[in-house]
Amino acid sequence: MNPDLQKLIELDKISQEVSRLKEEIAALPKRVAEIETKLSAAKAQVEAAKTAIKTQEAGKRKLESDIQDWQQKISKFREQSLAVKTNEQYKALMTEIEFAEKHIRDCEEQILVGMDSAEGLANTLKTAETELKFEAAEIEKEMAHARAVTAEDEKKLAELSQQKQGLQAGVEPSMLSHYERVATKRKGAIAAAYDHKCGACNVMMRPQKYNELLSNSELVTCDSCGRILYYDASKQPEVLQGGKAGKAGLRANERAWFYLPTGGESGRFAYFANSKGGCTMRIFDALSGQSIEKAAKKKTTFREAFSEYLTDALPLHPEHLNIQQDFDEQLPADMLEEFQLQARIAPGTTAAVPTAQ
Ligand SMILES: [Zn+2]
Repeated sequence: MNPDLQKLIELDKISQEVSRLKEEIAALPKRVAEIETKLSAAKAQVEAAKTAIKTQEAGKRKLESDIQDWQQKISKFREQSLAVKTNEQYKALMTEIEFAEKHIRDCEEQILVGMDSAEGLANTLKTAETELKFEAAEIEKEMAHARAVTAEDEKKLAELSQQKQGLQAGVEPSMLSHYERVATKRKGAIAAAYDHKCGACNVMMRPQKYNELLSNSELVTCDSCGRILYYDASKQPEVLQGGKAGKAGLRANERAWFYLPTGGESGRFAYFANSKGGCTMRIFDALSGQSIEKAAKKKTTFREAFSEYLTDALPLHPEHLNIQQDFDEQLPADMLEEFQLQARIAPGTTAAVPTAQ
């Protein structure tokens, strides 16, 4: 692979991690504010319960002092009753005393009712305090964790920023500036391409561009999203492993299709398959799709056995075709059409089979 491209891939990975870390660090104050809001809600609940208890207690004290007042009045009336001269005066004092006693009973009743509600309020306060204690402990843990993560992030960020600078200095300037241009618009300025597609935006690539990409030596960009592309053979479906990028192609069950530009009127299509015992090859005319050659070799792979066929071969991509169908003597029409399209040779001439004699 082009060493600059290799460095840009690395640089892009680091850049993405750098922006992730920056986002994480920037999120901390927001998280702290959320945590504080949560805590102050728990605190407010405790305060409200305390205030309710205070109000209730003040009410009780007021009632108790009212009772004392009425009791003093009663004592006074009783003293006065000893000194009265007439029956009317005596009766009037007795009525006053009755009136005061009724007030005292009312106050005592209110105090009893208040004692019930005081019990409820005490329970509410206890619950609120327990919640606050729990929240505070949780929050303490969460804050400590958030601070630790941020400190770790900042450390990593500093390291990565340095690595980034090192890589930037090592990349050829025009390539770097191209990369920087894409990077300002796209998160992840570099994407793996495989299976004829840009791995980021999934748009199909033109065959010629894809073939350029397979060598990983030129700077290839996606026509659709503008990202810099590199070929990633590891993501390629197994059936496609092959062609010029096919180091992984020594697999026992590898199968591959190629366009061979030489031979026939417009070249040939070739199918190769490895199996446990050896390998097979089938060659078809690229215009008619008729089988023109078959071969099989034992105890070898097709890349060794048929290497002379593969020197100018262009890999074809039949993955979206039903390749299970029978193509022994003749390529099915949809396959032929697709291959002609991929090889960019004129389709629609399948009727022009070479005439006999
Ligand atoms: Zn793209």
